[in-house]
Amino acid sequence: MAHVVLTGVTKRFGSHTALDAVDVSVAKGEMLALLGPSGCGKTTLLRCVAGLAGTDAGTISIGGADVTRMPVRKRPIGMVFQSYALFPNLTAAANIAFPLTVRRLPKPEIATRVSELLTLVGLDTYGDRLPNQLSGGQQQRVALARALAPDPEVLLLDEPLSALDAQVRTRLRDEVRRIQHQVGITTIFVTHDQSEALAISDRVAVMNAGRIEQCAPPPEIYAAPSTRFTAGFVGNRNTLELPTSNGRVSWGGAFEVEAPAAERALCLFRPEDVEITADGPGLPATVDVKVFLGAVTRVYATADGATVFADVPSRKATTLEEGQEIRVRVAPDHVQVFAA
Ligand code: ATP
Repeated sequence: MAHVVLTGVTKRFGSHTALDAVDVSVAKGEMLALLGPSGCGKTTLLRCVAGLAGTDAGTISIGGADVTRMPVRKRPIGMVFQSYALFPNLTAAANIAFPLTVRRLPKPEIATRVSELLTLVGLDTYGDRLPNQLSGGQQQRVALARALAPDPEVLLLDEPLSALDAQVRTRLRDEVRRIQHQVGITTIFVTHDQSEALAISDRVAVMNAGRIEQCAPPPEIYAAPSTRFTAGFVGNRNTLELPTSNGRVSWGGAFEVEAPAAERALCLFRPEDVEITADGPGLPATVDVKVFLGAVTRVYATADGATVFADVPSRKATTLEEGQEIRVRVAPDHVQVFAA
């Protein structure tokens, strides 16, 4: 059931079109990640849903009600930004209570709700701390609890983890997912970090230049990008431009696939899909360098004048020597092909 629906949403800044007739919907209880490079319009889209920015065309509805012209305060949303934006002079508990105090809820009710929310975000014993006595990750937990306090219908998260260091960031990412599941709240999560988008969401909307290129569940976005932009943006890929011939495109003995209607094709494939063997069928290649990455070892090789990189389970990579002659192959269904 669609809960948040955007239809033809357009936003211009002077002559620049930040959002170009965007259509997207988010189901009830779903987590949608908006993923894209800097300047593609992710934040603008979120601000339009929040009502912080007006739209030039199109409509936005939440729970079946048209909110396109509704002021921010009346929209049933909660928001968390990149910067913690907590009130520095209020304790964690008072920050969380703030939106409830404004709504003049009875004090005992506020106290119960605040204590529930502190538990939900894993900060039971931190209610009395001021923001400057909390770590960045803890401050974002407070900001999340404060956004959830009035029990909004929709949660909007704008790069809430990007100010945190890597380890805290991963832990809090998984926590945000747990909390979102537990509360069952419809959520839009903005990020430029592809691994974050893939890890946290039910569906990823990949944005480019004010448009949504593809919107699909993470495994589909990862394995079957529908556009050249998505293929290039999500995941590490080998990219080769090759000539087409009789409707086919091939790279030596490494792969042969159907070609698009163009003279040259752009072929993309993931490092984990490159098979390396010591001999047998495949394209002859030479190992240039091995980079140990933990579970996998990235092997750079030269084949047919091009550099190709392959992720090999580290256990298997021990037998590969730099300078060794090998064969590379890629299964045809792991090669994405676009007109060059
Ligand atoms: P980032 O990841 O860098 O935050 P983003 O995808 O969130 O990028 P937006 O902030 O939505 O991008 O901006 C989209 C485009 O609109 C950019 O080209 C930006 O410069 C422009 N833009 C955004 N806000 C304004 C504004 N208030 N006035 C003029 N141009 C703006």
